[in-house]
Amino acid sequence: MSRITVLRLGHRIIRDQRVTTHVALVARAYGADEIIITGERDEGIIESVKRVVETWGGNFSARFEENWRKVISEWRKRGGVVIHLTMYGINLPDIINEIRALWRDKKDLLVIVGSEKVPGEVYSLADYNVAVLNQPHSEVAALATFLDWLQEGRELKRGFPGARLRIIPSRSGKKVVHGEGW
Ligand code: SAM
Repeated sequence: MSRITVLRLGHRIIRDQRVTTHVALVARAYGADEIIITGERDEGIIESVKRVVETWGGNFSARFEENWRKVISEWRKRGGVVIHLTMYGINLPDIINEIRALWRDKKDLLVIVGSEKVPGEVYSLADYNVAVLNQPHSEVAALATFLDWLQEGRELKRGFPGARLRIIPSRSGKKVVHGEGW
């Protein structure tokens, strides 16, 4: 099974804490295996992702990395594909079939989202610059939409093994059950 890693570029502790946390939560919920965060080192985010995984299950992991160039070059050396989400890229519906074919071919995917201004070099290092509509919006929305289109909705039926808490879907109210290791 191939891997999906999300690379969050340029995290700033004061300005981006909430959005980077949401990028990590969306990555986990929508079927990625890992998030790598670059920019200002922020152990709080890594810890909060760990707590979510311990409570709600799955094998998602989060880590910091000083050097985003190293992450991209190592990914490419290992034969992985680099996808940069940017409003300037090729619009998702026009490129997703090509990326799905690589995904089915078991290629590992590195999905890059920015925060502050993304260095121009990223555009040329990426194999694909992909827009989720050529309009400005949010890294959280762009990531969720990309991952959902890639997996054609199948990620929404996945299980999260090892969860301590599980939600029983309910038309009204909240039903949560405790247990070890679903
Ligand atoms: N001004 C920044 C720049 O120069 O790239 C972008 C800021 S934007 C709020 C942060 C990130 O959201 C971008 O780096 C990109 O990953 C993502 N993003 C925003 N709109 C997008 C879109 N329409 N399609 C794909 N990604 C988008």
